Amino acid sequence: MSTPNERVAVVTGAARGIGAAVARRLAQDGFAVAVLDLDEAACKPVVTEIEQSGGRALAVGVDVADEQAVQSGVERVAEQLGAPTVLVNNAGVTRDNLLFKMSALDWDAVMNVHLRGSFLMTRAAQRYMTEARWGRIVNISSVSALGSRGQVNYSAAKAGLQGFTKTLAIELGKFGVTANAIAPGFIETEMTVATAARLGIEFEDFKKAVVSTIPVNRGGTPADIAHAASFFAGEAAGYVSGQILYVAGGPHG
Ligand code: NAP
Repeated sequence: MSTPNERVAVVTGAARGIGAAVARRLAQDGFAVAVLDLDEAACKPVVTEIEQSGGRALAVGVDVADEQAVQSGVERVAEQLGAPTVLVNNAGVTRDNLLFKMSALDWDAVMNVHLRGSFLMTRAAQRYMTEARWGRIVNISSVSALGSRGQVNYSAAKAGLQGFTKTLAIELGKFGVTANAIAPGFIETEMTVATAARLGIEFEDFKKAVVSTIPVNRGGTPADIAHAASFFAGEAAGYVSGQILYVAGGPHG
């Protein structure tokens, strides 16, 4: 169980990419971290890394869109690591296509992971936050929320997460719980590698084209997002709630 001063964070989609960077960063900040992803075995390397750096972590295999699995996964975190009072809803998928070619299955798959998943995880975790009279919810949105060709499903889900965030801030504020969203721009992960592959473009060419449109003239890294998550999860951010922070190397929103 957690020591009196050690808070517990849950990061979804944390086996790799942005989620793994956020999990490592929160562990450095002193949180015990539940590394949650679809495949429990895939979470183990991040858990081992955190443990080898002196932190506490737990691998949790959960499909965030599965109501039962979410409920038992969050209960397991509370039993084995301690009551979770920080939640980072990061798990995500893309199923890109132009509207006229998009299947209902691809629409549902994206809604299920981003929106239903964030709803189920937040509903399960809020109990521990309201009981503790302290909590931090960080939702990972995207610049795609502002519109993105070929991503009508993803764009709608990421915009939906922004409304979700603002409503959580209104409902949970009186319990000492804040809710904020980070909207990343282009970040180098397997997700953007897959996007380039789908477009039939070499990743380096894809990156060069995207970077030419970014004011700071570089691609983002998972660590760029982890810095922002660390701020929102921290004690000092208690008066910041319902905000959408674009971490995209330039102005958005
Ligand atoms: P990623 O490398 O594809 O990682 C996403 C992780 O989420 C994977 O480990 C994946 O597991 C997991 N996941 C997918 N469905 C899940 C489910 N139902 N339950 C639990 N875990 C699930 O993507 P990323 O680039 O790090 O993206 C992380 C978040 O940032 C996503 O929400 C994404 O939309 C958002 N984002 C990314 C970018 C970017 O440029 N990369 C920009 C803006 C926003 P599997 O590997 O087993 O599928």
